[in-house]
Amino acid sequence: MSADSDAPRNNFIRELVAEDVETNRFGRPLATRFPPEPNGFLHIGHAKSIVLNFGLAREFGGRVNLRFDDTNPFTEDMKYVAAIKEDVKWLGFEWNEERYASDYFEQLYEIAQRLVKRGKAYVDSQTEEEIRERRGTVTTPGTDSPNRERSVDENLDLLRRMRAGEFPDGAHVLRAKIDMAHPNMIMRDPLLLRIRHASHYRLGDAWCIYPLYDFAHGLSDAIEGITRSLCTLEFKDNRDIYEWLVSEAGFDNPPTQIEFARGEIDYMIVSKRKLLRLVNEKYVTGWDDPRMPTLAGMRRRGVTPEAIHAFWESVGVARKPVRTELPTFEHAVRNDLNMRVPRVMAVLNPIKIVLTNYPEGEVEELDASYYPHDVPLEGTRKVPFSREIWIERDDFIEDPPKKFFRLAPGREVRLRYAYLITCQDVVKDAEGNIVELRCTYDPATRGGDAPDGRKVQGTIHWVSAARAVDAEVRLYDRLFTVPDPEANEDEDFTTFLNPSSLVVIEHAKVEPSVLSDPPGSRYQFERTGYFVHDAIDSTPERPVFNRTVTLRDSYAKLK
Ligand code: ATP
Ligand code: MG
Repeated sequence: MSADSDAPRNNFIRELVAEDVETNRFGRPLATRFPPEPNGFLHIGHAKSIVLNFGLAREFGGRVNLRFDDTNPFTEDMKYVAAIKEDVKWLGFEWNEERYASDYFEQLYEIAQRLVKRGKAYVDSQTEEEIRERRGTVTTPGTDSPNRERSVDENLDLLRRMRAGEFPDGAHVLRAKIDMAHPNMIMRDPLLLRIRHASHYRLGDAWCIYPLYDFAHGLSDAIEGITRSLCTLEFKDNRDIYEWLVSEAGFDNPPTQIEFARGEIDYMIVSKRKLLRLVNEKYVTGWDDPRMPTLAGMRRRGVTPEAIHAFWESVGVARKPVRTELPTFEHAVRNDLNMRVPRVMAVLNPIKIVLTNYPEGEVEELDASYYPHDVPLEGTRKVPFSREIWIERDDFIEDPPKKFFRLAPGREVRLRYAYLITCQDVVKDAEGNIVELRCTYDPATRGGDAPDGRKVQGTIHWVSAARAVDAEVRLYDRLFTVPDPEANEDEDFTTFLNPSSLVVIEHAKVEPSVLSDPPGSRYQFERTGYFVHDAIDSTPERPVFNRTVTLRDSYAKLK
């Protein structure tokens, strides 16, 4: 890494913004916004936009608003507002102002009246279906509405009565009067307001006309004095109506829209609508299920906000759509955890060892460090050692292949931080299953080194059976079996759910030092992976650990 690796990486948006600031292009400081619709939890894709908007404001001394784009009375909810705020804060950002598009309904209504008065909007009484049918195609122009030439007075009267609740849903809509033959279909007299007799989650029944996305979005930006409105590429065609509206509404130095490619990662879905289905249809335990690509899910999985920053920074911001490979994300997660979390020992699939020459009932406390030499952190803990210990079943093979350096009959191996032990005997049940290994330890090798310098290749982890904490361990894996579960629109994405995305280990054995840390603490279980002490399902007697990520990309090996 270069010495200036803390400097933000450049991209085309950052260049434009730097120039804005340099030339005072807007006559006001940089102002950005993050505009989520409160109809679901934020996901890793949103984090790309958050890091970009808040990051630019921070770097260039600008402002950034958190604006809830809440113009749809059917899907929005206060619980999503709360979750979104928590997630943005968790990412380490503070917004200047918390705004709601629904606070601008009155202003939008006034703008609507102004447009009508200036002959730039009209009330149409066709059904939305009829309007759609008469919009034309990319190659053929649309057809003017029979209501297009209504008088200003008639339009104003109808608009007032729409607002007053005199008409049922769908009776009328307000449309911009632009051009039914416009090459950009969005500009063919787009809908601005429609009637919805529905209760809004914040405003209740105060309104029965609701603005459409295009009408609300750009004007909300303009009202807030935003300078650069950063959005994802699917809004490219909406830029014309954005510019038309902020200009026709009479804003000076209005904001401009810039598009960038959505952030997408293999094996993940970033669409709130689809994530909501996973929640509602109980494929996952909730929005914060550790398999979810939501920020709440990732937090519960043990991912750090710093890893998410580093990840999006490494991907960069561009206009070309790309899906990022999962190993790139996992690399960022590991990289960050590697430098910050303590190492402890846990045995996930235990088999018991009895050290036949170790005194019965005795427990000694051995010194162990929390961090390897290449991590610039210090700390030690005591690890209890006793006559009976647990090791991983995989670390013993009765008839070992050549390159196997761990435990086998007659073989000597090092117990990490403890002693060298030698396997003397394999105890089996009537069916021939191994139930216990009987070993001897060499008391002269405390700490793990043989005074006579004899070589022992294998080192394995272990946990004292006398002092082990019985824990539930949840092994999480990718939620889908294919890189792009949405690639084929004819196939429901749920058909690609990975049936082994969660494997629960009921009785893992963990060293007791973990009990002195609060839930939420993160660890590396030596030789096993990165884990977090689950803050929700753990009890003092029985902690739950979620696997954040494996130590290595286990799929790469398979390939
Ligand atoms: P979804 O399809 O998940 O509902 P959305 O775009 O409808 O996404 P919004 O709540 O409207 O969700 O998004 C808020 C902001 O986050 C918008 O500016 C949007 O462009 C941005 N955003 C959403 N998804 C992504 C993504 N995958 N990558 C980058 N930015 C995103
Ligand atoms: Mg949206």
